[in-house]
Amino acid sequence: ERKAGQRSTREWQALDAAHHFHPFSDAAALNAQGSRVITHADGVYLWDSDGNKIFDAMSGLWCVNIGYGREELAEAAYRQMRELPFYNTFFKTTHPPVVELSALLAEIAPDGFNHVFYTNSGSEGNDTVIRMVRHYWASLGQPQKKTIISRVNGYHGSTIGGASLGGMTYMHEQGDLPIPGIAHIEQPYWYANGGDLTPEEYGLKAARELEKKILELGVENVAAFIGEPVQGAGGIIIPPTTYWPEIQRICDQYGILLIADEVICGFGRTGHWFGSQYYGIRPHLMTIAKGLSSGYQPIGGVLVHDTVAKVIAESGDFNHGFTYSGHPVACAVAAENLRILKNERIIDKMREDVMPYAHQLWHNAFDDHPLVDDVRTLGFFFAVTLVEDKARRQRFANGGELALRCRDICFQNNLVMRATGDSMISAPPLTMSRAEAREFVGLAKKCLDQLA
Ligand code: PLP
Repeated sequence: ERKAGQRSTREWQALDAAHHFHPFSDAAALNAQGSRVITHADGVYLWDSDGNKIFDAMSGLWCVNIGYGREELAEAAYRQMRELPFYNTFFKTTHPPVVELSALLAEIAPDGFNHVFYTNSGSEGNDTVIRMVRHYWASLGQPQKKTIISRVNGYHGSTIGGASLGGMTYMHEQGDLPIPGIAHIEQPYWYANGGDLTPEEYGLKAARELEKKILELGVENVAAFIGEPVQGAGGIIIPPTTYWPEIQRICDQYGILLIADEVICGFGRTGHWFGSQYYGIRPHLMTIAKGLSSGYQPIGGVLVHDTVAKVIAESGDFNHGFTYSGHPVACAVAAENLRILKNERIIDKMREDVMPYAHQLWHNAFDDHPLVDDVRTLGFFFAVTLVEDKARRQRFANGGELALRCRDICFQNNLVMRATGDSMISAPPLTMSRAEAREFVGLAKKCLDQLA
C-alpha cells in the first residue's frame, strides 16, 4: 500500500527513466518499458511498489547469503556510524572494526591466509590482484613475469582490469579490452565443449590448456592463473572433478600463483566457507566481496596467503588503496554478517539439510523436462541449459533469446532467476527453508513449462 509521502510506481519509473543510467542495460528499451521498483525485502522475498511479493532466487546479485531483513546488521551499521563513521588506514592509523573483521577472516579462511587487503567491490579486488601479483614478482626480481591467464566467460568485474581478466567478449568489445598482459583459455564447460570425451577426460583436457598457454607465453613471463571455482555469471559452469586438481598440479609445477576469485563462491555458496575448500585447491590469493557482507554494505577485498604477504611486506610501500578501503561501517556490518553465518551454523545447516533436499527437487523437476538438459546443482547453485534435442545434445540456435524470454516469464510470475547464454540460473539465499525450496522449484518449473 502506498504510504504518505511516497511516490506512485509511475512517478518512480518516470524519474528513474529521466535521470538514472542503469548498469548492464539497454537504456532506451528499459525506459520505454519502465523499471520494476523494488521497495523492501525480508528473508528470500522482495516486494515491489505495487505490493507484489517476489521470490529472489538470485540473492540480489549472488550476494544476500544470509537473506534480507537481519536487524543485527542494521544495528551494527547504526552503532558504527555514530561511533566513527569514517576514518582511513593509509597513514599509520587503524580502527576497531577493520581489525575485528581482519581477525575474523583469518580465523574463517583456510590455513595460511592471515592478511586481507580491503576494497569496495569484487572488481576492485581483482584490480588489486593484478597490481599485487605484478608487484610480488617484481619484488622477487622478475618484473617481466606479468601475464595473468584467465578463462573464456569468466567474470571478474567491470573495471578495466576486472573486465580484462574476465572473458566476456561483449564487455571487451566496448572500450578496447583486454589490457596487455592478460591471456584467456577455454572454460571447463563439458556440455558445450566436451564432444565425445567423458567429463573426466575433458576436465583434464581443459586444464591442460593452461599448461599449453604457459609454454606458449614462456613461464618466465607468466605471473598467475585466475579462476572462479564455479563460474557464476558465465552460466554456473561446474567443472568436471578432474579439472581443479590438474590446474593445481600445473600451477605447482610451473611455480605460478593461483588466484581463486571467490566473489560468488565465498561465504557459503558451495556449502563450504570457500569454493577452494570444496575443490581442495590451495590458492595464493582469494578475491572476496558479495557474501562478505551479504550485500548489506559494499565491501570486498583480497585474502593474501602468508607466502605472498611476506614478500609484499618486505618490499616497501605497496602503492595502492582506495579512500574507502576498510571502511568502518562496511567492516562492522561484514563482521556481524560473518558472526551470524558462523554462530547460527548457516552454511553447515544448509549443506546438511536443505541443500540435498533442494538438489533432489531440482532434478525431479527438470531431469525429464523436454526443454532442458545439463541439469546442474552444487551448493546453492541451480542451473539448466535450454536444449532443442536432448538425445543429440543439440542446443537452440536462438537459445539466448529463449532464455531471456524465460527470465521475463519468471519475473512476471514473481520469481527472480537469471538468463546467461542459453542457461537459466539461480542462487538463492543460504537461509532458504525446505518449504521455500519447494516454492522456488515449483515456480521455476511452472515458468519453464510456460516457455514450451
Ligand atoms: N568476480 C566475480 C566472480 C563476480 O561474480 C563479480 C560480480 O558479479 C565480480 C568479481 C565483480 O564484483 P563487483 O560487481 O562487486 O565489482
